[in-house]
Amino acid sequence: MKVTFCGAAREVTGSCHLVQTDNSRVLLDCGMFQGSAFADAKNFRDFCFDPKSIDVVVVTHAHLDHIGRLPKLVKEGFKGKIYMTPPTAKLAKLVLEDAEQVMEDEYRRNFRPKLFEREDVDRTVAKIVLADYSRRVKLDGLSFRYRDAGHILGSAFIEMDEADGPRIAFSGDLGNVPDQILKPTAQLAGQDVLIVESTYGNRLHEKMETREIELRKCITETLKQNGVLLIPAFAIERTQLLLFELNHLVENRLIPPVDIYLDSPLAIKASAVMQEFPEDYNKTALRQVAGGDDLFVFPGLHKTLSRDDSKIINEAPRPKVIIAGSGMMNGGRILHHLIRYLSDKRSTVLIIGYQADGTLGRRLYEGDKRVEVLGERVEVKAKIKAIGSYSAHADQRQIMDWIKSAEKLPSSVYCVHGDEGAAVALATRLKEDLKIPAEAPKFDETIEI
Ligand SMILES: [Zn+2]
Repeated sequence: MKVTFCGAAREVTGSCHLVQTDNSRVLLDCGMFQGSAFADAKNFRDFCFDPKSIDVVVVTHAHLDHIGRLPKLVKEGFKGKIYMTPPTAKLAKLVLEDAEQVMEDEYRRNFRPKLFEREDVDRTVAKIVLADYSRRVKLDGLSFRYRDAGHILGSAFIEMDEADGPRIAFSGDLGNVPDQILKPTAQLAGQDVLIVESTYGNRLHEKMETREIELRKCITETLKQNGVLLIPAFAIERTQLLLFELNHLVENRLIPPVDIYLDSPLAIKASAVMQEFPEDYNKTALRQVAGGDDLFVFPGLHKTLSRDDSKIINEAPRPKVIIAGSGMMNGGRILHHLIRYLSDKRSTVLIIGYQADGTLGRRLYEGDKRVEVLGERVEVKAKIKAIGSYSAHADQRQIMDWIKSAEKLPSSVYCVHGDEGAAVALATRLKEDLKIPAEAPKFDETIEI
């Protein structure tokens, strides 16, 4: 068996790994590079394989950096099946349609070339084959099963075995456990080789208990100053988690009444998908739903699906809270709100997710005082705050704990989906603490197993 790392190698985005045996050529994820203009350009480059030569794709979850190049793959001649879990299939359709719409808008506004068209998305969706957790799927000379990764709804890690050959595992993205809504990450079986994400491979999240306190503080300060609280949020999972926690704060009167706008069509639709799969919730969340509480609806929440609805937010009186995508502020409706409120010293931008190199989010996080938003220079006077524990990813300790709890330790590990520093740091921890040979492979590198 051979594995080639065709993306997310010493970087976070563009997840895509090719598994080759004598009989099969299987792609694990086919994600988009995200963040900077340079990342955008990489999406247009040729794949490091011939799309026509791929037999099947096995997808871990519906984030764009894991599925965003599927329509390009189909456009360039891929003819096989695309496996994913049922919730991932629903979310993937929304995410790909949304991405195409964003590209169409960019094309109309700035003549930016599109990576794929709507018909490529439709052809991609038509190739999806559903596979539940734990059902073993047989391919030619290989088999795999999905296990709950606890990262977002429907997310999975993959255990893939070659008949009479090695057993490998690919973590996809691992959850930040315990999650308020989802079940914890399942136990890894005794696989020989592990390909593991390392987004936070060199960092530890702050304690989860402090996060509600911080969120409450941000909201009450905003109210006191008659300001605006902007929360750029990832449409899938982070937004639902935020709504879940706001639901708790509002319904238990832990914050004063305030208008909260959810200004993300994708997040609104994803919340509806989330409600279709209560069987994937943990016991506490399930009990709450059974008791009649709608997890994502509470007094003061306004969902603005259409553009006209979205404009109402501008006229709405202060104070107010606006949750809008994209999470890294490299597109989406959040940009219009940033133009309006970044230079207002009574307002706050609350960062609750990973900010990749080259994004506007990263520049604000690092304290830039002058930034460009939609071609306009804006002076940053608003407060910029960050709460790390909202991340959907496992931190270094959680990744190590997950590997340590495997039925049998893997005999080698490859760290992907992390900046160079994070991937190398995790590999070092694995070598020193667990005595497992580990490395951070480079882009287009092939290993023999
Ligand atoms: Zn993810």
